[in-house]
Amino acid sequence: RLLKSGPPIRSCSRSPPNSTKAFPGPRKGYDVNQKFHAPKGVAEYVPPDSAGFLAVKSALSRSAELAGYSYVELPIFEDTNLYVRGVGESTDVVSKEMYTFDDRGGRSLSLRPEGTAGVVRAVVEHNLDRAGLPIKLWYAGPFFRAERPQQGRYRQFNQVGVEALGSEDPALDAEVIAIAAEGFQRLGLKGFRLLLNSLGDTATRVHYREILTSFLANLDLDPETTKRAQLNPLRVLDDKRPQVQAMLVDAPLMRDVLSDSAREHHEAVCTYLRELKVDFSDAPRLVRGLDYYTRTTFEFVHDGLGAQSAIGGGGRYDGLMSDLGGQELSGIGYGLGVDRTLLACAAEGLEVTSGQRCQVFLVPLGQPAKLRLFGIAAQLRDHGVSVDLAFDDRSLKGSMRAADRTGAKLAVILGDDDLAAQTAAVKNLSTGDQQTVAIAELAETIQEML
Ligand code: AMP
Repeated sequence: RLLKSGPPIRSCSRSPPNSTKAFPGPRKGYDVNQKFHAPKGVAEYVPPDSAGFLAVKSALSRSAELAGYSYVELPIFEDTNLYVRGVGESTDVVSKEMYTFDDRGGRSLSLRPEGTAGVVRAVVEHNLDRAGLPIKLWYAGPFFRAERPQQGRYRQFNQVGVEALGSEDPALDAEVIAIAAEGFQRLGLKGFRLLLNSLGDTATRVHYREILTSFLANLDLDPETTKRAQLNPLRVLDDKRPQVQAMLVDAPLMRDVLSDSAREHHEAVCTYLRELKVDFSDAPRLVRGLDYYTRTTFEFVHDGLGAQSAIGGGGRYDGLMSDLGGQELSGIGYGLGVDRTLLACAAEGLEVTSGQRCQVFLVPLGQPAKLRLFGIAAQLRDHGVSVDLAFDDRSLKGSMRAADRTGAKLAVILGDDDLAAQTAAVKNLSTGDQQTVAIAELAETIQEML
């Protein structure tokens, strides 16, 4: 259900545990001629593009693994209140964009709109903070926001993210930012920029909120924006409308009221980033769509993407873990958009996939050859070689066409005569060269040829 006026917030304890509340099952009656489509606004990937999607996801994940982050696999839906409390009731993400529904027990659940709240919930629930600190975790998977669909903005999209909890060391902020940048570089991306800001610590934010609220009170804002200014004045700074941005030119900046410790933290992060040779630009007006951020906040943007230019973002959160019932540990993390990163690769003309579905294609000519090639396929796969074979007893010509379509490097052709001689023909599909190889030496020879 798409929420128009905020999620229904229901405490679990108030619902009887085995409530028999009717669950709205599938709609009755359907058109037998109905054609099915993927739901509006979701990103889905089919071959050959799906290989690029996987390549982006694995490049972004790899840099987190290399920096000692452990994987977490978390639920795709959570208690709605986790997001209300964690992400913030006044954010667009929670108040307008969550897919919220009641389960059969009358509990309000929401498809996860972001990853941090779920990770922090899991850290608290599984006492992961009892082991050594910082706790370093990474995740990957789909997220859901009921946004207006457009290029690069989907209702189901994918992120790879990291969270590091239990250290306030500014070096950790820099490490998190650097591994995100490294993920993009691993793909060969060049046209991305890093925007960096500090949103101040809790004390700074209380003070800044006061001065920003009085500044906004003197502006001629429309009723909805005025309401937002009262609820969460920082969010107004994020308003993309030019007429609102024009009114905000002289808005006070968090940068000018940072506490000494928040300023020192920010300067230390900048120093570490310079040391790591990660380029960044100062973005004193950068605020992000989730309420939990304090101190370091950042966003990666790509200039080839038009309006939806953010390919990833994140920041530090000081109060989130205690807000969710844990001890007071600060954390820092990011979420990188896999879908937009893939679009950014396309915009730069980067080939992020090998275009190869398998390395070797097996062509049987006759039933005995087919049986034998099945065994050979298993043997080659055991050696880590990717193998496909021709099904449906096709002709040699049809099978070779199928081999070409897979992008395989080699084809192995086996007929009755070859079987009698215990040999097979191995054809290099790019040069057309063919050689005869003893079946007993096939696995070894093929590995050498690849
Ligand atoms: P956020 O959780 O809003 O900080 O988003 C982190 C990253 O996820 C963004 O920089 C985008 O790359 C990606 N992202 C967020 N929302 C969407 C969406 N609706 N469609 C596609 N990608 C998204």
